[in-house]
Amino acid sequence: MIDKGAPLQLHPRTRGMRYIDLTDVQLASSETARRINRDIVLELIRANQPISRAELSRLSGLQRSTISQIVEQLIHEKWVCEGAVASLPRGRRPTLLELNEDLVAIAVDIHPKEATIATVDLKGRLLSRSVVSLTSDPEASTRALTECMLRIQQTLSRKSIEGIGVSLPGRVDQETQRLIFAPNLNWPDFDLKKTIEDAMGLPVEMENAATAGLLAELTFRHVDGVHDIVLVTVSEGIGTGVFANGQMLSGHRGMAGEFGHVQLDTSGPLCSCGRRGCWETFGSCRAALRYYEELQPNAAKINFHMMLNLAEEGDPYAAQALEKQAAYIGRGLRIIITALAPSLILIAGDITSAWHRFGPAIEKEAGEFALGGAPPQILPTHEGEIARLRGAAALIFQRGGVREQLQVSDAMQHTPKAKLSFDI
Ligand SMILES: [Zn+2]
Repeated sequence: MIDKGAPLQLHPRTRGMRYIDLTDVQLASSETARRINRDIVLELIRANQPISRAELSRLSGLQRSTISQIVEQLIHEKWVCEGAVASLPRGRRPTLLELNEDLVAIAVDIHPKEATIATVDLKGRLLSRSVVSLTSDPEASTRALTECMLRIQQTLSRKSIEGIGVSLPGRVDQETQRLIFAPNLNWPDFDLKKTIEDAMGLPVEMENAATAGLLAELTFRHVDGVHDIVLVTVSEGIGTGVFANGQMLSGHRGMAGEFGHVQLDTSGPLCSCGRRGCWETFGSCRAALRYYEELQPNAAKINFHMMLNLAEEGDPYAAQALEKQAAYIGRGLRIIITALAPSLILIAGDITSAWHRFGPAIEKEAGEFALGGAPPQILPTHEGEIARLRGAAALIFQRGGVREQLQVSDAMQHTPKAKLSFDI
């Protein structure tokens, strides 16, 4: 048995002052310790697969018997499976462990007019992808979503579906799991989570698209060693997910990071939130379409994809509109850089497919007034809209993982990278 009061060994790279709130103290229990070790082992398998038990023991510092126990549990829960047998010198042939490819999540990425539904496996690969049209009626829209998901479920009879992750253009109150701020979606109050859970019989996790996207980067990209990251989604609006001092930031009622609604010009265009001149009214894809319309008032209506294509084909007006959007994205990033000093800013959304156009313009504008030296690195997420889908899937794969650990408030306030100093 472990001593419940045994100190946790905090990761040496963890920075910042630790404040212990005595109104919310709960000592780390053996259950907490076991769960953290389980998640560390799962992350080590994810990052190093295929891998042997002995190697896991070496990398984690946990005893072989503890590793065996945790691995058995992960195999039982279908997260991990035994694969190839390794050939080592002196005749030892350990069985290697890898993530179970048959464990999948259904990922739903909701936009105001449509949703993409995908099946994503534990390795972050997309196995299927469907698009469903949405309206301003949440009940009818959810029905369309669940009908599509039921069709997908039928094709996955040989896979184990762990749950449904929903990425939303808004903020979700983590206590009530209700959408509390989604001006672009404009749905009246509606219990989306329960409606989908009842229809599908699977657990549902919901999260802001930018936060989910950031979770996906942490899960699948392995940005180990980087503790200050902001992920910015650019689509109909602008959303941000914040990883600061090695922790996801949610703020009061999950509202942290609404930089898209910082007013840059109080007499600017009307924003979906009801105010004028928010950053997203200048830097979103909607704004770029408005710039194009201003330059070409008589042209036929186009969508953002068409505008990207026009620019690539040499249309000067489309190129000019995108240039203006990129400059405004960069200008808004200055607020984020000043507020949070991230070392890495990741941009997600359709604009990443034209990064040769956006990247340099954003960097120039954002880095112009960098305080105290080097501006942050600004990179696109790898896969455009796929980043949001993988984000939705990560909500399910991290259930009991990084997210839950972040919510565990024990006296030690350990971080996701904390390692326990004892075996269980
Ligand atoms: Zn606004």
